[in-house]
Amino acid sequence: MSRKGFLQTAGQVMAAGVAGGLAISCQTGGQTPAYPVPTNRTFTTTGGQQLHSSPPYSPPAKVPAGVDAPIELEAWKSDADRKSAPVPTPLPADQRVGYALVGLGHLTLEEILPAFGNCKKSKPVALVSGSPEKLQKVARQYGIKPESCYSYETYDKLKDNPEVQVIYIVLPNSMHAEFTIRGAQAGKHILCEKPMANSQAECQAMIDACKKANRKLMVAYRIHYEPNNRYVRDQIRKNEYGKPKFVDAYNAQSSANPAHWRHIKALAGGGALPDIGLYCLNTTRFILGEEPSEVFAYTHSDPDNPLFNEVEEVCSWQMKFPSGVIANCATHYNVHDSRQYRVMTERGWYELANAYAYSGQKLTTSRADGTIVRQETVSILPKNQFATEMDYFSECILDDKAPYSTGEEGLQDQRIMEAIYQSAREGKPVKLATIEKTDAFRGPEPQLQ
Ligand code: NDP
Repeated sequence: MSRKGFLQTAGQVMAAGVAGGLAISCQTGGQTPAYPVPTNRTFTTTGGQQLHSSPPYSPPAKVPAGVDAPIELEAWKSDADRKSAPVPTPLPADQRVGYALVGLGHLTLEEILPAFGNCKKSKPVALVSGSPEKLQKVARQYGIKPESCYSYETYDKLKDNPEVQVIYIVLPNSMHAEFTIRGAQAGKHILCEKPMANSQAECQAMIDACKKANRKLMVAYRIHYEPNNRYVRDQIRKNEYGKPKFVDAYNAQSSANPAHWRHIKALAGGGALPDIGLYCLNTTRFILGEEPSEVFAYTHSDPDNPLFNEVEEVCSWQMKFPSGVIANCATHYNVHDSRQYRVMTERGWYELANAYAYSGQKLTTSRADGTIVRQETVSILPKNQFATEMDYFSECILDDKAPYSTGEEGLQDQRIMEAIYQSAREGKPVKLATIEKTDAFRGPEPQLQ
């Protein structure tokens, strides 16, 4: 049919449909008309004007019985576009795992509490803070009962609050051990922010306390649940572009307040390394599945800058893995922010910009294809990292599963960080125990939706 003929025929069909008030379908291929199209349905506005409307109509949808099975809505996009994520399957509020947030600082107020809005299995039910003003205000904002607000002194009374199943420790690093141990003694499961603590002895005591109380312990390594980092890990583990050979990773940002706990060694444990360098360390281990057998490091602090009287300004280190992979890592507390890694393999590379940021990851890969070098950007549906991580821990509790990001994983990072500092002090490489097992310190692989 000519273009003119097509337009004429289409015009006649549309005119006939509109005149008769027919139900027509947007779909082609002679399918049964689905949507009733209005011709004479009107409603009256408050100003007395008559407007046309559509008759209510529920398109076909699959509605499975279980709350955890997503509703499947009528599709309308072709495979040419990315599929949208499945419809969320939130648990009814009374079935969600209740969290007590300990410490109402930047991370809790700016990221964690807002992230509950994206959670399907977790809800905030209690707060712990040294500030009565913050407690009162935040409790009102998030619908927490006044009797579920605690100070650090009344913290142990959480044991009498049956709504609280998880205590999420978001305090300065030096307080993680005490509040984890007291929390486990109060009979609650523990999600503890990274770094797990300031010494191996503290990490071990936290693991022991949770084991003794038969409570689950997870260290909040959100990167373990972030889709871009998981994708890189999966490709590397499959040797998709050949074996991994070299990792270059850095995580750096600025700081300005020497009075802040991050600049006091007794509170922070160190400077840039335990706070942000840890991401390079832990994510490299996560991607490779191996443990370093040797480290070599430099640290430096500007002697004229009061920010770095107690903690290091910069730490640069290398890790040697049993397979021969070398990782070159750096972290800095006194530069514009920069968070990135590249994993070089035998036949390609993976580069993740904003690798450790809360959002905005940009993944590029490169490989040779005959005479062409093919560089691709891989765009993965983003997820709220804090909501994903909390829901995963809630699932571990609801289904009684061992968490992936274990206390032993946090302890291993601490062990390696202590070796990094030792190397920087002594100016020579420090050997670590050679560990043959893959993913030696992690729990069972999570099945993330
Ligand atoms: P903030 O300094 O913003 O908040 C810490 C809060 O801890 C304070 O607001 C205060 O809460 C409470 N607190 C109790 N005792 C002290 C003390 N002696 N000095 C200072 N604060 C105290 O820190 P962040 O929220 O940035 O970090 C908290 C934890 O979260 C750290 O372990 C950090 O490493 C980790 N973190 C993790 C991130 C991630 O992406 N996973 C990102 C950022 C931080 P209140 O006033 O309510 O008593």
